[in-house]
Amino acid sequence: MVRPMIPDSWPIPLALLVAGLAVTLIVALRYWLTSGLFAWVTQKVRPGLYAGKDAQIAKEIRWSLISAAIYGVPAGIVLWGWRKFGWTEIALEWDALPLWYWPVSVLIYLFAQDTWFYWSHRAMHRPRLFRLAHAVHHHSRPPTAWTAMSFHPIEAVSGAILIPFMVFVVPIHVSALGVVLTIATVMGVTNHMGWEMFPRWLVHSRIGDWLITASHHERHHEDYQCNYALYFRFWDKLCGTDKGLSRRIVEAAGHAPAAAASVPAE
Ligand SMILES: [Zn+2]
Ligand SMILES: [Zn+2]
Repeated sequence: MVRPMIPDSWPIPLALLVAGLAVTLIVALRYWLTSGLFAWVTQKVRPGLYAGKDAQIAKEIRWSLISAAIYGVPAGIVLWGWRKFGWTEIALEWDALPLWYWPVSVLIYLFAQDTWFYWSHRAMHRPRLFRLAHAVHHHSRPPTAWTAMSFHPIEAVSGAILIPFMVFVVPIHVSALGVVLTIATVMGVTNHMGWEMFPRWLVHSRIGDWLITASHHERHHEDYQCNYALYFRFWDKLCGTDKGLSRRIVEAAGHAPAAAASVPAE
């Protein structure tokens, strides 16, 4: 049985406020730790990559902290209702859902997020909506590990509503939801950090050809009208918007055919 984390005696507006604030703090902390970790790694493996970017990074952090509240409030309200009234299809018990469904639910959530992101992102590249809602994200030229949540509030709302909606419709075990949120966080940061962390055998493989990593998303930040999706290249390929990988990132990673040929095998 699920016990409420906020006392029943609290008036509902106060309970919602505390739940929204608590999840906002968690989202902000998650952003700070993940982006901070990968910014630190960037300094180790690509020293100087963020040189002269202090002002850009300060703006990215400000927009991202506003986004944390926009993500945190609906998630906090849904979590409060889940604990208090049993809202949502989130399962806590291991036997509540069949085991085979665990990976299936992760894939359903990732594909739904990817589909939502592809079409909303593509819409945000129409000139009026771009100026209004999406230009903020593209002010990062090139992006950094801190760009992950650097969105205008309108864009943040579009990103914040899908999972709180999905948990009412698509059953998922709480641990699978944790995996989805971890993938979303890590890929959101690493796709923007300006270098490729995955090895050549994965990025340039048949499977890699369908996955989005920094090499692919950086190309979106270079050319704008292409590579709109989030995790998979399915929609971009289907709709003819996939323009391949960022030449700069592929070369810097030593993944380019010429570079690969000139680098002796280790
Ligand atoms: Zn981006
Ligand atoms: Zn964009």
